[in-house]
Amino acid sequence: MNVLNYIDGEMRAAQAGAVLDNVNPATGAVYGQIPDSDAADVAMAYEAAAAAFPSWSVTPAEERFKILNAIAEGIDGLRDALALAESNDQGKPLWLAKNEMIRAAQNFRFFATAAMQFSSESHAMEDKAINYTLRTPLGVVGCISPWNLPLYLFSWKIAPALAAGNCVVAKPSEFTPVTAAMLGEICNAAGLPKGVLNIVQGLGGKVGQAIVEHPNIKAISFTGGTVTGKHIVGVAGPMFKKVSLELGGKNPNIIFADADLDKAVKTTVNSSFMNQGEICLCGSRVFVQRAVYDQVKSALVEAVKAMKVGDPLHAETRVGAIVSKPHYEKVLGYIELAKAEGAAVLCGGGALYPEGFEGGYFIAPTILEGLNWDARCNMEEIFGPVITLTPFDTVEEVLAMANATEYGLAATVWTQDLTRAHKVAAQLQMGIVWINCWLLRDLRTPFGGVKGSGVGREGGWEAMKFFTEVKNVCIAL
Ligand code: NAD
Repeated sequence: MNVLNYIDGEMRAAQAGAVLDNVNPATGAVYGQIPDSDAADVAMAYEAAAAAFPSWSVTPAEERFKILNAIAEGIDGLRDALALAESNDQGKPLWLAKNEMIRAAQNFRFFATAAMQFSSESHAMEDKAINYTLRTPLGVVGCISPWNLPLYLFSWKIAPALAAGNCVVAKPSEFTPVTAAMLGEICNAAGLPKGVLNIVQGLGGKVGQAIVEHPNIKAISFTGGTVTGKHIVGVAGPMFKKVSLELGGKNPNIIFADADLDKAVKTTVNSSFMNQGEICLCGSRVFVQRAVYDQVKSALVEAVKAMKVGDPLHAETRVGAIVSKPHYEKVLGYIELAKAEGAAVLCGGGALYPEGFEGGYFIAPTILEGLNWDARCNMEEIFGPVITLTPFDTVEEVLAMANATEYGLAATVWTQDLTRAHKVAAQLQMGIVWINCWLLRDLRTPFGGVKGSGVGREGGWEAMKFFTEVKNVCIAL
């Protein structure tokens, strides 16, 4: 399936005419082309967005609400087609893609209502003065997203930016371009005025870089790798752009001996291997209290060995294909490194070649044990179907290991002891802690990480605040 840029309400090829191949990771075959856009296409997108801004920024909230809601309905209406496109593009199981399309629609619906509810604050100074806060849209903003949850994360940025009255130049990952292009058609059908959203396809180093460098794009909302995030801050910082960064993770999953172990194991299988482990929130370091270590280990290994790996379109598939050849090679490289670091492979441990999909990028879900807590495979983000198992004795010991990486995105804790749950949650250096659950999301809550996992928070009012400029007006009484 070939896709085009979406600029000023129209589908356009890159001005220079260049294209990139798009590969289906389940087969390894090229199945379409995308524009290999450059700075000239970003400039064109910016001009369209800037022209649309004066009108969109003063469009009544109720009208923005209606249009964003119509986009949500458009996504719901095309759910099956979008899910199929996402599965072909990304390698994820089709059933999972269908769930993610529900969330993509929810993102627009949620921020449609935010447009109606967002309001200013006021601070009275007794009989001296009253202050009120004006919040205005920033102008044209840039939204850059990764390949792992393509439309889910793309819409998570675009929806609040539009709800707050901004116009957007957005870039999906070059590895997963198709649903972003379909979103352009959905926006037109929903009555989004032309130029309000522009989607430029192509490489990060060209299109993403041009968005970040553009002198008049006021803010960058970025989700992706920590190294890219660091580079973006280096470019956008001296330009005093607002930047929101959602970056990598190396999330601990801590199972105490008193936990509901059946539930902990069942959820750990998901939190480790859902979407082939390619979710920033996946728990990749599983710490198990020594008294139940062997029990948890054998239950986990048994459950993971039973997972069906292969054809993403098959209803029973639990683990699909890795998104791209370079990423597949990176993940396999980490498995080899773990072996060299002394890991024992409890299951998986290499590539798989499912019948009919021999050219695809499949990796067997892999559980490793016996690594030092500070081995590279315990410290660096692998972002694939690979987890490490490590025993621990005390709370202090597991907190030290859990907090030892450069990342601080999310943690999961399994215990029935309420006091311990609160204490551990408070001491984990993470932006998000789940107790006895994983990936339970209320879209109003602040979402994001600390340390190398990012700067700023998304979700609810956090996102609306990011996408607005604030001014305090003080009136003497
Ligand atoms: P990536 O950093 O390679 O790419 C992300 C996006 O940035 C892509 O659209 C890419 O084209 C673009 N890009 C690349 N170079 C750029 C540059 N110089 N300037 C501007 N844009 C550029 O990340 P990825 O491999 O697509 O995604 C995987 C990473 O994303 C993992 O590290 C994962 O943890 C992280 N992630 C984080 C979250 C979160 O919420 N914290 C969510 C999902 C994924």
